[in-house]
Amino acid sequence: MGKKVYLQTFGCQMNVYDSERLKGVLASENLSITANPADADVIVLNTCSVREKAERRALGRLSEFHKYKQKNPEVMLVVAGCMAQRMGTDLVEKMPYLDLVLGPDQIFQLPAYIQNHRDHCLVAVCASREDFDCERIWEQRIVPERKTPFTSFVAISRGCDNFCSYCVVPYVRGPERHRPIDQIISEVQLLAQSGCKEVTLIGQNVNSYRFESKDFADLLQMVNDQTDIQWIRFMTSHPKDLSDKLIDKIAALPKVCEHIHLPLQSGSDLVLEKMNRGYTSGDYLGLVERIKKTIDCVSLSTDIIVGFPSETEADFEKTLEVMRKVEFDSAFMFRYSIREGTKAASFVDDVPEKEKLRRLYTVIKLQKDISGTKNRELVGKTFQILVDERSKRDENKWKGKTRTNKTVIVEGNNNLLGEIVTVKIDEADSFTLFGSQTRKPEKVKTA
Ligand code: SAM
Ligand code: SF4
Repeated sequence: MGKKVYLQTFGCQMNVYDSERLKGVLASENLSITANPADADVIVLNTCSVREKAERRALGRLSEFHKYKQKNPEVMLVVAGCMAQRMGTDLVEKMPYLDLVLGPDQIFQLPAYIQNHRDHCLVAVCASREDFDCERIWEQRIVPERKTPFTSFVAISRGCDNFCSYCVVPYVRGPERHRPIDQIISEVQLLAQSGCKEVTLIGQNVNSYRFESKDFADLLQMVNDQTDIQWIRFMTSHPKDLSDKLIDKIAALPKVCEHIHLPLQSGSDLVLEKMNRGYTSGDYLGLVERIKKTIDCVSLSTDIIVGFPSETEADFEKTLEVMRKVEFDSAFMFRYSIREGTKAASFVDDVPEKEKLRRLYTVIKLQKDISGTKNRELVGKTFQILVDERSKRDENKWKGKTRTNKTVIVEGNNNLLGEIVTVKIDEADSFTLFGSQTRKPEKVKTA
């Protein structure tokens, strides 16, 4: 019988996507997945490096998992992903009991390493930016193992060239490489044929996608026209690369959902410049105006960082001001975390931790109020939702998302999994809409 692998994933949607495909690779090599680490022959952590907290959590889990190896030295302990790439041999010095350290571009070689397990630790990461090469990753015909068959991520690029001064991603995921368009189309079509209803095209900055003469707007058009997928989402959109052509396409293409994740990071031009974001708050607000004018009922979400080096109270107020003006539907909010090797790590981290926390709670509170108000305005309206989960609290309730990416809980005695149903919103809070099924769809873009 093949070995059993326990896989825990930290971090962003790209790690989730890699882990889903890794499970597919393991299955094709007669290796099975176990949900119980105590039962595993191989324990793999697919790690994240974006903030210190994510790394600390992974290191904590590793020392917990060490006890399984102490009980049975045959157990193989593997650190994969961004933290593996960032720390490399330093990880082995810290944790000499590790068996394998595997960068994000080496992750699919895991079965070969399991088969040739040695008694010393191997570190397989990219040594320089020139080393990052994902042709082999793209080429593999992998059937991913996903949490739900009805939705899926599809990577359209890997890495990033933007070098926002606070961000470790360009160092751990390498330069931006774009996936050939025909591979993206065939992956989406395969998913559609297997019953998947919705794909999210993912990349660190989807707006800068280019393949031969095609850009991201062309890619959206092709996925819309050449596949049987029903809904198309995408993330993340860097504001500096969101063209008018792309806004027009999002508005016009029936399968493309009306939601844009558009990280603002800060509302202060001084801070934005130090972050190397490539836009001002005025540019951002102008972009939002064009989006709202062109895309009917669009929803916008964002990322905010508070407590960036040198951020004054006045800078912070400007972030609150932009948040109030845009009225984001939702936001991911973080306090700045120093990442070694980034440009911002050389800036003085002069906002005290207590103040960073105060600013964080302030933006969270503001966003909660805005989301609550916006969601309550939807009471009485009808929307289509794609149901992808049974509610955990009540087995006669189902969980789905609107095209605008809002979570809706709906009652239903019959199995609604995988169905696109029309719901009327009865109640709402800052995070969730509650609705009932109706036969009367309001004007929707899908044919
Ligand atoms: N490429 C995407 C983008 O530009 O929005 C996502 C990158 S990152 C995985 C997701 C978010 O983490 C960023 O948008 C930023 O808000 C946050 N982030 C990145 N580095 C950070 C740091 N050093 N401290 C705090 N938050 C950080
Ligand atoms: Fe990091 Fe900026 Fe690239 Fe996003 S765009 S991954 S924040 S460097």
